[in-house]
Amino acid sequence: MQKISDRLIRVAELVPKGSRLADVGTDHGYVPIWLLERGDIHSAIAMDVNRGPLLRARENRDKYGYQAVMELRLSNGLEKLRPGEADAVLIAGMGGPLMIQILEEGRENSRGVSTWVLQPQSEIPSVRRYLMTHGFNIVDEIMLMDEGKYYMAMKALPGKAEPWDDVEYLFGKHLLERRHPVLKAFLEKEKRIYLKILNQLTENHQSGTVRCNEVAAYLAALDRAMEYYKDRIL
Ligand code: SAM
Repeated sequence: MQKISDRLIRVAELVPKGSRLADVGTDHGYVPIWLLERGDIHSAIAMDVNRGPLLRARENRDKYGYQAVMELRLSNGLEKLRPGEADAVLIAGMGGPLMIQILEEGRENSRGVSTWVLQPQSEIPSVRRYLMTHGFNIVDEIMLMDEGKYYMAMKALPGKAEPWDDVEYLFGKHLLERRHPVLKAFLEKEKRIYLKILNQLTENHQSGTVRCNEVAAYLAALDRAMEYYKDRIL
């Protein structure tokens, strides 16, 4: 059985059963192989912009004997995906800005895709905001800790969406509404860190500077997020 990290397991589990999956930035090809081994997907197109990762993915694919159901493609983002070829797209382990660029440039090629599974490594609020304002609807979110690092991933479907507010973009509306325990730990940690920063700025006579105001605004957003965890009388 192909071994993959906890992060990749949790992200892969968001892919709908029976999908024809396109994995963008597949690297080693572990996720499609893991999903094929479990019988969770119908087939996969594993894509990467670099030859080295694709050679690794080919080696792994051939070791497991999935040549008939897992195709490898050298592709910048979704460039080499043809409309209708995939019904789910997975993009994991990349920075948020690159992910947004891939989504934006891949609009035509991704026609027919009904599910997007995205795990940005940075600028996650920007990815959420982009999706919710550009014809995608985030329907599920997960958060986990793997080897001491926090990860967030989301499932989005094409369609019209009600925009979220700033705190929901920052921390994830579904995670907040579910009072996600990993998010709670993250919020508490952020609050400790940013309170310390605010104190240092104040001690260094930086009150009123742009940086100080940004930190104070972020702390206020953390407090609004923590409100979700308070017992509410309905
Ligand atoms: N998806 C795997 C994961 O989550 O563990 C691998 C992530 S790895 C850090 C990023 C991969 O994305 C690399 O193999 C890199 O070559 C590929 N990549 C970077 N930019 C890309 C692009 N524009 N289009 C396709 N693949 C890209």
